[in-house]
Amino acid sequence: MIQFIGKGVYGAIAMGNVSIFKKQDTVVKRVHAEDTEAEKKRVIAAREASAQQLKEIYDKALKEVGETHAQIFDIHIMMLDDDDYNESIENIIDTQSVNAEYAVAVTADNFAQMFSSMDDAYMQARAADVKDISNRIIANLTGAISPETLSNDKMIICADDLAPSETVALDKEKVLAFVTAHGSSNSHTAILARNMNIPAVIGVGDDFLAKIKNGDEAIVDGFTGEIFINPDDATKEKMLQKQKEDEDKKRLLQELKGKENVTLDGTKINIFANIGSVDNIGAVLVNDAGGIGLFRSEFLYLENADYPTEEQQFSAYKKVLESMANKKVIIRTLDIGADKQVDYFKLKKEENPALGYRAIRICLKRPEIFKTQLRALYRASVFGNLGIMFPMITSVSELEKILEICNIVKLELQAQKIEYSDNIELGIMIETPAAAIISDRLAPMVDFFSVGTNDLTQYTLACDRQNSDIEEFVDTHHEAILRLIEMSAVNAHKHGAWIGICGELAADTTLTENFLRMGIDELSVSPTFVLKVRDAVRKTDLTKTK
Ligand code: PEP
Ligand code: MG
Repeated sequence: MIQFIGKGVYGAIAMGNVSIFKKQDTVVKRVHAEDTEAEKKRVIAAREASAQQLKEIYDKALKEVGETHAQIFDIHIMMLDDDDYNESIENIIDTQSVNAEYAVAVTADNFAQMFSSMDDAYMQARAADVKDISNRIIANLTGAISPETLSNDKMIICADDLAPSETVALDKEKVLAFVTAHGSSNSHTAILARNMNIPAVIGVGDDFLAKIKNGDEAIVDGFTGEIFINPDDATKEKMLQKQKEDEDKKRLLQELKGKENVTLDGTKINIFANIGSVDNIGAVLVNDAGGIGLFRSEFLYLENADYPTEEQQFSAYKKVLESMANKKVIIRTLDIGADKQVDYFKLKKEENPALGYRAIRICLKRPEIFKTQLRALYRASVFGNLGIMFPMITSVSELEKILEICNIVKLELQAQKIEYSDNIELGIMIETPAAAIISDRLAPMVDFFSVGTNDLTQYTLACDRQNSDIEEFVDTHHEAILRLIEMSAVNAHKHGAWIGICGELAADTTLTENFLRMGIDELSVSPTFVLKVRDAVRKTDLTKTK
């Protein structure tokens, strides 16, 4: 048995087999090949394996997300058969006597460059597709096959780190737990694990991947951060017992379904849920959330190989609103950039991406993208109770520009006689210290605030949320953060706005009483935490002096 320790970021226990997730864009080396015929045969085999995998992904996507979204995988299968593409690979192998991986990588670069230089936006977007299929061929050539193809069993995904775009690509039904050598507790892998109700352990250490192999038996304890590889019988026994106790506790919480979020002295609060995809609505309903406090709409962009169209977005928003049957649904506009990178946005590499070109900054510089999303949102608004929220606000003038664009979109829809609700609440994320400090100026302009403690923490404490080396400096209960939240609450209420918290801190039940005392109106948490927070609220008595 080998034991590792990292940081547990979602408390649950999983037992199963290891599947190592390898990055697909590893650097490809140029190697001299004596037997070029053998290299060409390797390409053919890898291409056939890729086609088979894509076919499976297409079938799955067709069932889960419908034909429009699945189509891209069909295009990928066709691209695999493209004569020019395949001739180029063979030519490079023949003329340069090089390995198959190198020939595929060079062809991918050449084709991607050719597509990018075309005038037509549709053709430009094919650059990302050709890279995608080439990465898949290379992964099949090198044996770095993505976990979805490894087995039909559920797996413990072990990785160096996982980018949001990688986690969305995973077949979630086959994931038992996430373990990463690096990463941080506020990373989107951690958030995803909470949404999926599976354990996650991060920061296990540099040597972790070198010491494990695919298929190893493993136990992940998301409470303590312990990982046991090929555990002995005594450990298995102990962990089975712990798993049972945890499940019993979670079962007890089920009894809180249908009960009010009310303190012992009668103070009420809303408990909503955070989601990243239409697929999460089931979890929201099962856990009895009162609404959706944060729909991270950027995942629609991350899941797509190209800008999602107005129609695609409209149908996703409509589905969420209809499923929630008039309960509040707050959809946050695009928050791309920083840790959430999407190829087709072609964002430049930045020295400090968290402080760079992201979220509302992209929307204001590229209003065509913003307007497409707003049109889809306004059109969908007639199907439920919509709130629209804007991320990464730092100034009054930004908010003025946003509200002006919203008005333009409404006028355009009116001119086209397209219906939208006149009951949409507009709000902003308070996730920069600047926004909290000028919350007295911002509050009169909106209906609500929602505090994004993940970013507010990183910006207030100057601690990059992606950097696992500085976790010890991240004091999520830091007085500065709590003061900024309280200041925002006072200012919101002074100007008739309501205030919620949608960052991960909202689920920290050691702070529930503090938040209630500050007058926070809503806590929005991963669906799996709704009942836990309800339990904490119902045990709180605000008449007792602290
Ligand atoms: C936050 O910053 O707290 C937040 C909710 O947004 P995200 O985690 O998506 O950046
Ligand atoms: Mg944020």
